[in-house]
Amino acid sequence: MKIAMIAHDMKKDDLVQFATAYKQVFENHELYATGTTGLRIIEATGLPVTRFQSGPLGGDQEIGSLIAKNEMDMVIFFRDPLTAQPHEPDISALIRLCDVYSIPLATNMGSAEILVHGLERGDFKWRTIIHEKEFNKNE
Ligand code: PGA
Repeated sequence: MKIAMIAHDMKKDDLVQFATAYKQVFENHELYATGTTGLRIIEATGLPVTRFQSGPLGGDQEIGSLIAKNEMDMVIFFRDPLTAQPHEPDISALIRLCDVYSIPLATNMGSAEILVHGLERGDFKWRTIIHEKEFNKNE
């Protein structure tokens, strides 16, 4: 599955801890991340991560464009609910697109735990069906 990871500055340590704890799960999937978040995950885990621009410089929108093409299967987005972000419109747009395409989105560690356990259990198989449908549509 393709998994996008984003963490605001105050939440980056949490996401690094999370990615480290579930390294054995994530190494079987394709990871994508905004710039600094991706770098932190690579440094901490050694996992391959496709990095986009930093969030405030358009990284959220780049991830959004993959969601709009139905190419992203899960988003782990550790938002900082206590700090105003200059790119708030991009954040809302990303969350909105997850809802448009029914993409599982975790905005905190509690929900991320549940998504990762679901991933291990095979709860994301329905995404494979979506990918097959998209593929046939484009044939
Ligand atoms: P960053 O972007 O991973 O480059 O810090 C995330 C954000 O702060 O929106």
